[in-house]
Amino acid sequence: MKAVFLGTGTSCGVPIIGCDCAVCGSDDPRNKRRRTSLWLEAGDVSIVVDTSADFRDQVLTFGVKRLDAVLITHAHADHIFGLDDIRRFNTMQGGFIPVYGSESTIADLQRIFNYVNHVERPGLYRPLVDFRAVAEPFDIGALRVTPLTVDHGSTPTYAYRFDCAGQSIAYAPDCAAMSDEVVDQLQGLDVMILDGLRNAPHSTHLTVEDSVAYLQRVGASRSFITHLTHDLEHEVTQAELPDGIDVPYDGLKVEW
Ligand SMILES: [Zn+2]
Ligand SMILES: [Zn+2]
Ligand SMILES: [Zn+2]
Repeated sequence: MKAVFLGTGTSCGVPIIGCDCAVCGSDDPRNKRRRTSLWLEAGDVSIVVDTSADFRDQVLTFGVKRLDAVLITHAHADHIFGLDDIRRFNTMQGGFIPVYGSESTIADLQRIFNYVNHVERPGLYRPLVDFRAVAEPFDIGALRVTPLTVDHGSTPTYAYRFDCAGQSIAYAPDCAAMSDEVVDQLQGLDVMILDGLRNAPHSTHLTVEDSVAYLQRVGASRSFITHLTHDLEHEVTQAELPDGIDVPYDGLKVEW
């Protein structure tokens, strides 16, 4: 399996518009964070989790050339506003691309991107997507996908666990809490990526401290925090984390 962090930043991205803080002004490229998204390759399957507001830039910068499916965690703007750029993948691949999410996420996508369904308008260059509401584990080729519901305030939100040929990864970029049952379903992972917005409490996201506590309970071989805001300088934050838990950066590739 291979995972590439396409974006590791909170909903505003980092730098934040108009902010003069040290992280937003940092020269370290690891402090420049696009909106959160993950590219995953497992065997010959290539998928992205979320089509962020930076999707086009992410795809061009990190070289995503083919997509077998798109998975959406939830319908917040930072995670979905790049969906329109699926059009290029339709053109290159010559067909519809399945887009998976919870029933409520798919309903939101159909409302927000309503023109997708306007098949009666010839000449309209629209994304050719096949919306699929899922609640149970499903397969994309050899990749088994398990949707898991996490607490992210009032917005219904999925994390996803992926298993392929004995290897595994899970991704939960937006999360304020996880049930014991979900923690149980995340055991035995090679890689776990979890929300860790900032150090100060937030009503819909985990703090770094709480994220670390969950990551230690999950006990993956490698763990990462993501969805980071400008309070967190890369090296300072990394130095404070226990062994085995890392701060990622845009473009970081993890292969195992
Ligand atoms: Zn988000
Ligand atoms: Zn700032
Ligand atoms: Zn969110």
